Amino acid sequence: MSDKPVYAGIDIGATNVKFGLVDHDGRVLHREQRPTLAHKGATPLMHLVSNIGERLLLQAAEEDYEVKWLGVGTPGAVDFSSGQVIGPCPNIDGWKGMEIGANLRERLNLPVWVDNDANAMALAETRFGAATGAPSVVCVTVGTGVGGGIVLDGKVYRGANYSAGELGHVPINFEGRKCRCGSVGCLEAYCSSSAITGRVKELIQKGLTPAFEEVLEGAVENLTIKKLFQAEKMDDPVARQVLDETAVYLGIGLAGIVNLLNPHTVVIGGGIMEGGGGLLSAISSEIKKRAFGSAVEKLSVVKAALGNDAGFIGAGLLGEEKQ
Ligand SMILES: [Zn+2]
Repeated sequence: MSDKPVYAGIDIGATNVKFGLVDHDGRVLHREQRPTLAHKGATPLMHLVSNIGERLLLQAAEEDYEVKWLGVGTPGAVDFSSGQVIGPCPNIDGWKGMEIGANLRERLNLPVWVDNDANAMALAETRFGAATGAPSVVCVTVGTGVGGGIVLDGKVYRGANYSAGELGHVPINFEGRKCRCGSVGCLEAYCSSSAITGRVKELIQKGLTPAFEEVLEGAVENLTIKKLFQAEKMDDPVARQVLDETAVYLGIGLAGIVNLLNPHTVVIGGGIMEGGGGLLSAISSEIKKRAFGSAVEKLSVVKAALGNDAGFIGAGLLGEEKQ
């Protein structure tokens, strides 16, 4: 009997590299993760990704799978034809310019496709996740950064120079907060994890509220998004205010996108969706309040369904797009 065809996917995240083997129905047959160690810089990370590629090929051989191709999702804009990182990547020193595709093809002797991580996630959610079957999808992931991907008729829309879908850098305030991209007022400057915890810190610096006193054990430096959700569950007014504002900011940014593209589905994922269910409906109402009635009439706003697997499942799907 011939080996079962599968694809391999690698998702390079800010904290962990997640990877796995997936079959053509989107079933995850094997999954693992390793720390990214982004602070060590580009060369050690490239070695890690190459080793993971070999690890996946070995795993597949042991389980009688035939790996058809490898897909990789990475932060930063990527030249999809070559697999080279062409956009800045603030979390990984020296990553811009990295020829991920060429390095892996040489080492693994396999077809390799590389794209932006949020594009990969959007593709996975469209094929097998929260937006399955939707003809036009905008996917936004809100975590360490704010990323986005656009899928039209089953294909990622990459734009003239592979830079489409950068939802995190849509301006929502022309004279607003400084963004790490060098501009001001970008959505990411208000909604990334550090921006959200930064806004909480501004509000509690004069004195901790009772809920934050308890969840932070008196130390503001213990603040994380998870602690913010804990305080929200205790009905803390500061937690409530910051999360309400976050929904408004995301709703403003997404209303502009909805007016521009009139998508069938907006998928929202990332760490910000790990709290209560209130945030999704607050973002949805804000979009519907601000965008054209005709643009939201057929719109669904949904929570991402594939969690941590989305990035490597979508990376694997990149090869299918090329068939
Ligand atoms: Zn920006």
